[in-house]
Amino acid sequence: MKKKEKENTRVKQLIDKLEKDRALSKAEWTEVFGSWDESDRSYAAEKARGISRAVFGNKIYIRGIVEFSNVCRNDCLYCGIRRSNTNAQRYRLTDDEILECCDEGYGMDFRTFVLQSGEDYAAYPPERMAGLVRRIKQAHPDCAVTLSLGELERDALALLREAGADRYLLRHETANEEHYRRLHPAEMSFSHRMECLRTLKELGYQTGAGIMVGSPYQTEECLADDMVFLGSFEPHMIGIGPFLPHKDTPFRDFPKGSCELTLFILSLCRIMLPSVLLPATTALGTIRPDGREQGVLAGANVIMPNLSPAAVRKKYMLYDGKICTEDSSDECRFCIQGRMKRIGYEIEISRGDHI
Ligand code: SAH
Repeated sequence: MKKKEKENTRVKQLIDKLEKDRALSKAEWTEVFGSWDESDRSYAAEKARGISRAVFGNKIYIRGIVEFSNVCRNDCLYCGIRRSNTNAQRYRLTDDEILECCDEGYGMDFRTFVLQSGEDYAAYPPERMAGLVRRIKQAHPDCAVTLSLGELERDALALLREAGADRYLLRHETANEEHYRRLHPAEMSFSHRMECLRTLKELGYQTGAGIMVGSPYQTEECLADDMVFLGSFEPHMIGIGPFLPHKDTPFRDFPKGSCELTLFILSLCRIMLPSVLLPATTALGTIRPDGREQGVLAGANVIMPNLSPAAVRKKYMLYDGKICTEDSSDECRFCIQGRMKRIGYEIEISRGDHI
């Protein structure tokens, strides 16, 4: 066999091994990320799509996301709502406004509401959030509430869990500590974020981790660390999207992440963790007009249309060019339905819990 052909079969062999063992070593992952090509990506996508079909059929779970505050005490170098960005116009929704978004979402068949924000604990302390979760669960007892508020201590997370929160999304961002330090200011810590993820699982949350693909300074070794971490932590959900620069951040001049690598990693996650909840993210839809469809065809099974009030959408700008900021909630909801239908998938009306 010629050298090139040998290389061509090696990554596919590793993908087969991943399918069989549900794990690869760090060295093997580094090899995968160092030498994959388009044929490996379609090989993985086909397997991943088959697994998704076997586990979820042609059903896509939807979650309505309410971005209720863009005020943040943190200063993550990649993020458009970091506290140092004085160009960001800050907003905070009232409890009634958040509840109205959920009510509207319920009428559009959402059975999961995701409440996401910057780390705005000054305005939304855990007691207030707990009250809000209780109100949402009371109004819609057949719905799941997912929180994505950033890092909190165990007592706060326990309080929110007791109030009825079902799930929590907290991307680990990178499983490589040195890389973590290059993405975050010195006052933030890798170990605290990881500890928070472990606490979430212990408290019985369906827990979501995840990364940005192609974030500045990310290497093949970082991605290998991410895959090893995800395989051992076994999150219920994994949020993966490409890094996209924001003009008012220190990372403004870094290139976007690769759409193809994002899709490849989605497929690898699906093969490694067959029943994991895997969203085709908004960032994926931003980097490429049919990115979310491609995500589903690569093994994703969840889409999170925007349920935020039209008036604030443009202000929740994590990165430049974010899609759906001109649309209303029902436009987003039915746009997704059409997009899914065209590729042979259907929206499922249910909470879409991890099984
Ligand atoms: N404050 C919450 C929510 C953060 S925003 C928290 O800390 O978890 C949700 C996700 O958006 C982040 O976890 C990050 O992975 C992603 N994100 C932020 N800036 C981004 C950028 N420039 N490009 C792509 N994704 C970004």
